[in-house]
Amino acid sequence: MSSAYSAELKAATDAVRLATAVCRSVQSAITPDSMAKKDKSPVTVADYAVQALICRAIQSVFPDDPIIGEEGAGDLRASAGAEFLERIVQECQAAGISATAGEVCDWIDRGGVVDYSRRFWTLDPIDGTKGFLRKEQYAISLALIVDGQIQIGILGCPNMLLDSSNSDSPLGTIAWAVRGGGSWMQAIDDPESAPQKISVTATRESQNARFCESVESGHSSHDWSGLIASTLGIHREPFRIDSQCKYLAVARGDADIYLRLPTKKGYQEKIWDHAGGVLVVEEAGGSVTDIHGAAPEFFHGSTLAKNEGMVVTNGKFHSAVIDAVQKHSPFASGA
Ligand code: AMP
Ligand code: MG
Repeated sequence: MSSAYSAELKAATDAVRLATAVCRSVQSAITPDSMAKKDKSPVTVADYAVQALICRAIQSVFPDDPIIGEEGAGDLRASAGAEFLERIVQECQAAGISATAGEVCDWIDRGGVVDYSRRFWTLDPIDGTKGFLRKEQYAISLALIVDGQIQIGILGCPNMLLDSSNSDSPLGTIAWAVRGGGSWMQAIDDPESAPQKISVTATRESQNARFCESVESGHSSHDWSGLIASTLGIHREPFRIDSQCKYLAVARGDADIYLRLPTKKGYQEKIWDHAGGVLVVEEAGGSVTDIHGAAPEFFHGSTLAKNEGMVVTNGKFHSAVIDAVQKHSPFASGA
């Protein structure tokens, strides 16, 4: 493992592991009843508690580092009410971190930065909230960006088996990459186990590829991906999972392609929905560009303002995938 950024990596992976306990505790309390009512409060409690714990951990070691996170405590202070805030405080306490409501709000606010700076972290406390509520896949995504380049990418995937082909393997995987140091994974609950180096598939022919995409057709167009698959000669059904777990699926070879295809013109992808996953795939040997083949630019604040969608592959047939994406684009002139 590269020794560059080792203090940052240690603080960040420890924080993601701690946050996993909160996610699991909150997720286990979700009932079919709360699902039927489409009650989003469990995920909101977990979102805030995770952001609080991770921001606290980063601030304690790197007090000058800004954090561009998905949540802000502004809404929380304004409208959530003391009872809701108390639930967040209790989740932090159950994870072993005692704090007042004011301290928790302050930690969450650390992650409320929106502007680009030379060195910053970006955090999605719970990516894939719909998967979280369905008790399926979700991810805690954290990345360090320096001079516009991702230097550390971390994905905590508490519901992903360490070995997707072995249901007896540990449940819960953490993956990380430091630029130039390869990509690694480990059982999320076993920091003492030997990290495993991961790499993308060796699949060379696009027709033999397996692709993954969002469960939610509102987040990525399933119609468009279906046309792309037929152009590429792909017959296998897509593998649909929520969250940046899709990046880990490509990085470790469970899938060859991840397509994120805009459902409407003008949607700006959020940096926290990608940064952790992008470096994990690139360091595993894969390629990541937007739907036009351009590199994602993490230096425009909280969104990928200069990019559209995302195309992630094992790097063996990336340009063929981009060509197929463009051929079927509903946004192309004349389309
Ligand atoms: P996924 O689990 O891959 O479907 O992606 C979840 C993420 O999709 C969330 O974190 C949101 O930030 C993001 N999202 C919300 N609306 C859209 C949209 N219209 N297009 C693309 N991504 C979206
Ligand atoms: Mg997200």
